[in-house]
This record gives sequence, C-alpha cells and structure tokens, in this order.
Amino acid sequence: MGTGHIRRDVISGAIAWSQSNQPEFGDGRRIDEIFGEDCFDLAEMDRRLPRPVIAELRRTIEDGHRLERNTADAVAEAMKDWAVERGATHFTHWFHPLTGTTAEKHDSLFTPDGAGHLIAKLSGSGLIQGEPDASSFPSGGLRPTFEARGYTAWDATSPAFITRGVNSATLCIPTAFVSWTGIALDKKTPLLRSMDAISEQAMRVLRFFGTDEGVSRVISNMGCEQEYFLIDSHFLASRPDLLLCQRTLFGAQPAKGQELSDHYFGAIPERVLAFMAEVERELYRVGVPVQTRHNEVAPGQYEIAPLYEQANIASDHQMVLMETLKRVAPRYGLHALLHEKPFAGVNGSGKHTNWSLSTSTGVNLLDPRDETHTNMQFLIFLGAVIRAVHLHADLLRASVASAGNDHRLGAHEAPPAIISIFLGDMLTDLLDQFEHGQPTRTLQGGTLDLGASTLPHIPRDAGDRNRTSPLAFTGNKFEFRAVGSTMTAAWPLTVLNTIVADSLDNLCTELERVTGSDRSPESIQAAVFGVMHRVVTEHRDIVFNGDGYSDGWVEESEQRGLPNIQHSSEALLCIQNPKNVALLERFGVLNETEISARVHAYMEKLVMTVNIEATTMVRMVEQKILPAAHRYQGHLAETAAATESAGTECIGLRDKLESHVELCEKLQQSVQRLQAETEAIPEDVFEAGGFLASRLRPAMEDLREIVDILELRMPSELWPTPCYRDMLFLK
Ligand code: ADP
Ligand code: MG
Repeated sequence: MGTGHIRRDVISGAIAWSQSNQPEFGDGRRIDEIFGEDCFDLAEMDRRLPRPVIAELRRTIEDGHRLERNTADAVAEAMKDWAVERGATHFTHWFHPLTGTTAEKHDSLFTPDGAGHLIAKLSGSGLIQGEPDASSFPSGGLRPTFEARGYTAWDATSPAFITRGVNSATLCIPTAFVSWTGIALDKKTPLLRSMDAISEQAMRVLRFFGTDEGVSRVISNMGCEQEYFLIDSHFLASRPDLLLCQRTLFGAQPAKGQELSDHYFGAIPERVLAFMAEVERELYRVGVPVQTRHNEVAPGQYEIAPLYEQANIASDHQMVLMETLKRVAPRYGLHALLHEKPFAGVNGSGKHTNWSLSTSTGVNLLDPRDETHTNMQFLIFLGAVIRAVHLHADLLRASVASAGNDHRLGAHEAPPAIISIFLGDMLTDLLDQFEHGQPTRTLQGGTLDLGASTLPHIPRDAGDRNRTSPLAFTGNKFEFRAVGSTMTAAWPLTVLNTIVADSLDNLCTELERVTGSDRSPESIQAAVFGVMHRVVTEHRDIVFNGDGYSDGWVEESEQRGLPNIQHSSEALLCIQNPKNVALLERFGVLNETEISARVHAYMEKLVMTVNIEATTMVRMVEQKILPAAHRYQGHLAETAAATESAGTECIGLRDKLESHVELCEKLQQSVQRLQAETEAIPEDVFEAGGFLASRLRPAMEDLREIVDILELRMPSELWPTPCYRDMLFLK
C-alpha cells in the first residue's frame, strides 16, 4: 500500500470530521452539574450514611486510621445502592500491578435470589478485600504460577467511581494489591506506606516548631502535567511500530519540524479541541479536577493537567486520565500516543510531577513566604529536600527508569539523566548566606513596569524558571520533570516521599538534640542555622541553576561526584544498593524481598519492551521496507535498460541504481545483524539488561539510520509506511 493511498484516506477522514459526523457532545448540562456525579466521594457518603459511620470514615480518610469492619459493611451497602441507581451492573477491585497499567476483573453486583429475581449485593468483606487469580501479573520471580493467590485491599481514601463504556457501567473500587504472603505487588501499597512515613517525620518537625496544633497528619500532594501526542487513527493500521510499540521505530525527518515554535501554545486545532473537551467532561464526571489544556512544543503534541490532590488520589486519577485519553481519541478518529518518544527529532513527552507537603489543616509546608530567612520551619523542609536528593540521586534516577524514558532523558529536550535541583535566585541567595554565616535578607522580586500606560504593573517572581532541571523549585512546590509520560507517578513519588522522610528525620533529630530542653525562639533559630550550615556545606553540590542541557554540566557534575546514569538497565540496579535497601526498609516502604522482586520485574519489562521493538524493526524491514526497496530497484534497472536499448546513455540513472543497490545491501546486512542480536539476548534478565545497552540498541540505531536515508531517496508512493510529515501535521 503506497503513501498516496493512505493519504487520500486520511484526508477524507479529516474532511469527514470537519463537515459532519461529529460526535454528539455532552447532554447540554453544565460542567459544574456533572462534576463528580460518577464518583462516590465524601459528599455522596455524607448524604447516604449515618453520622457515626461518617465520623468513623473521616478518621480513616482524613486522619489515616484503620477502618473498622462494621463501618465497611455500612459503606458497602450505601456504595452498592448508589452504583446501582447510577446504572452499574458490575464492580471491580481496581489496582495498579507492576506492569505499569491498571487491572480490573469485573464481578456482577447482582445475584439471583432463588425466587426468580435478581438482587443487588455488595458485602463489607467484598468491598474491603478481593482475591483475584493473580498468577500472570509480574511478581519479579516471587511466585511460581501454582502459587497464584493474591489479595486486593480497599483504599478507602481514594473515592470509588463508575467507568462507562458502550453497554456497560462498572463500579471501580481503588485497591492495593499484595501476594498471599502480604508482599506488595503493586505501585499503590508502597506509595501509601511512604505517605505514612513522611507524615510521621514531618509531624515531628511541626511538633518541634510548635505548629502542630489541630494537625492530624501531613499530606503529600501531587499534580501531574501529562504530555501526549495525537495522530489520525488511520495511520496505525500501516505502522506496525505504532501499533505494537506506541512509537515510530523508523521515520525520516520532515522538511519542517518544531523549529518555528508555531505549535507551542498555539490555537488548538478544532478536532483536537473537541476531543479535549470530551476527555475533560469524562474526567469531571468521575471527579478528576482537570484544569489546563494546551499545545506542546512538538507538532501534534498536547498537554493536560489536573489540579493537584493528595498523592494516592492524584495517582489514581492520573491512571484514569491516561486511560480516558486513549479511550476517547478513537471517537474523533484520533489515536493518543502516551509514549515518551513517539517521534525522533522532535520533543518527547514527560509527566512533570509537582509535589508538595501540606498539613491536614491546609498549610503548604513548602511555601517560603515573604521573609523566607526568618521562616525557620520552611528552611528545615528545604534543607531536608536538598540533603535527600543529594544522598539519593541514584534512587530518584532509578525511579524514572524505563525503556521509553531512555530516549528522553539527556536528549537535549528533557532533563538530563544527572539528577540535580534548581532553586532559583532567592533560595540560592539564602544558601550563599548560610554558607558564609547567618542569613539576614530575602531577595524580593519587585514589580515589572511594562512601559505602556494602559498595562498594569505586574509583580515579578524573585527568580526565573529553568526548563532544563530534573527537579525544580517552582514557588511553593517541587517539580520532578524526569518522570516519563507513560509512567505511574506513584513510584517516583514513593521514592521522593521516602528520601525526604529520611532527611526530615535526620535534621529533626539534630534540632531536638541541639536545643535539648531549651525551645526558646533564640535557641530554635540557632539550631536551625547550624543545621542549615551543615546541609549547605555537605550537600550544596546537588544544587545547579545553570543549563542542564550543556556539555559543561556533564563535566562539572562529574567533578561534583553526581551520578550520571545513562541507561535504565544500569539505573534499576541502583535500587538494590545497600544504602537504598536500608532506607526503604527502615521506613517500612518496601522490604528486601519486595525490592528485589520490583527490580526483577522492571528489568524484565525493560528487556521485553526493547526486544519487541527490535523484533518489530526486523519484521518491518523484511516484510515491508526491503520488498519496497527491491521493487524500486527493479524500476530503476528496467528504466535504465530500456533507456540504453533505445540508444541513450543514462549515467545519472546508473549511478542512482548503483547507490540504491549498495544501500539495500547495507540494509540487508544491518537487519541480519539485528536479527542475530535478538537471538543472542541472554536468558538471565540482568545480563540481558546490560546486553540492551551494549549490543541490541546500537544495532537498532544502525538499522534505523539506513532505513531513514532510504526513505528520503525513494519515491514517496513506493514507501510502505506513512511518513512523519503526515503523522505530525495532519490534524
Ligand atoms: P507549569 O506552569 O509548570 O506548566 P501547570 O499549570 O501546567 O504549570 O501545572 C502545574 C501543576 O502543579 C498542576 O497540576 C497544579 O495543580 C500543580 N500544583 C500547583 N500547586 C501545587 C502544590 N502546592 N503541590 C502540588 N502540586 C501543585
Ligand atoms: Mg510545569
């Protein structure tokens, strides 16, 4: 099938969209009317449950206490009634296995009563606990398949919701997933444990400063900015790489890329905007508070960001959001690509993960306020983050390791694989002051006069932004930018919570020791300044405000002794460094068995992903590209022969034929080499990880280079797959 054929198809698809055929949008109701209607949140429970039950439930949801069994029975009954009223027929314990996606097994809410009727039922035990046959989920070699038992346990803090499809409505109950022996096999369990760990340590700090009154716990918050690409769904059928790997494995650069910056923040194309609006409506319905939408840097790239929420809820919502993008796109003839690097040569996609800590009473503990140098408590939280990231940069890097992210980190468009912190002018000035003595001032941003009398004076931040930093302080939160677009943000956040919990523990212990029984303001201030002086002298190397994309930084970071771990296969191994195992164990986030299981499962996924990509490349070349190239070779040879037999020389054509044959030979050799490498992947998953970096990926790159040259030299109607230009620019 030639490109000509595909393009006519696509263009008619796009025209059909713009002329008619547009899906019915909504049901005329306003978004505030639909917000949360399919979400069983506290407001809904308040309406349906007796006061004592609500009080008990609040103790769990807001204060982190364990749930009583009779409370669960009452909640189950109310949840079932609500779901059935809203048309649900089934329920599922919804969880996040180590595959990185979500899992669900639907059970009917209805059972026959023996007298010819169906009755709806959901017991407290059915709500609290499930037992899926979980043998096929990755367990990192923990369980042979004959030991299949696994349990799901209700996460009461994350609201249940209803997913709707054609002919179906299913009650989804967010759960944690563990093995029969209680080993965490999912991404939620450690996240919840890390939230407890950081809450406990942060509460100690609040008690030290006497700011804990009325505070029952400290909450870690998360707000994720999700980047993604949209392509016309027609292209999928003729691109096996997109279908199987969600990224293009071949593709020459189009004449125009992102260099004009004419897409970024541009007017959103009509079809895309229609799609976005429907995604948002679906998300509002289940209570996901989406806020921001815009075009991203690369042509065909977009972003959606919800308002931040408590980390485990935000993480659940993040999974719903990714699933919704993928589910709604086909209704608009589109396909959503969430991969970190769907197209070479233009920007990849990240999931900037914004993180902050707040008290249960709503105070943001990372807010520096105006006179920051006098804000002792903030300084301790800041110091803890600096120390944590310096000591555990390797673990943070490991938390964002994946096959897809390897194409993004350090590729001069996303943060480098070197972990550092950007603090901006104001906080950096404070560190300078601590280094040389006691801080006496806080830099102020002032105001900007725009020079036109009709424009207002606007307040200016005390520092600029830095897009190149993996972890940037952005006003009253940190933004972890190294997280990849397909990832479950739960794991990077688990690591962030745990390493900061450890440093809060460290700094708070010192504050308590130094001040002893003297908790006067002077004593506290002296202790804080002492602690901050130590943090600055020992850990300042992790702070970098310069250009993270520059080669100079690679050298400088090496001198500073910061790890620069390029390959995910290498990064994953860091999780097992003794200091990291000790840390995760000490805070009860993951034990040694859980850690080794995780490393094994992630490594296995990495190896399998790259193996699928390599095999797809070989098949595309053998089944599509080489046959097309040979067909072209035949055309050239025939034309040359016919021209010469007509008595005319054709030197240029002969040259073209020769160089084409030469390129085809190179292609043949390169594909054979890649085929041989896929067959040589070692059995042992850890050896295989190293093999990816040293052998398999270089062979893939070599093959791609040849194919991309060939694409530019061949007539487009003979080229067997849609090209970058069409996929990126047809909206
Ligand atoms: P940017 O300017 O960085 O692109 P966006 O508006 O796209 O910002 O997204 C910022 C994200 O950070 C949103 O999800 C927002 O809700 C979240 N956010 C804002 N304040 C906090 C906070 N205190 N803690 C965690 N996340 C936050
Ligand atoms: Mg941002």
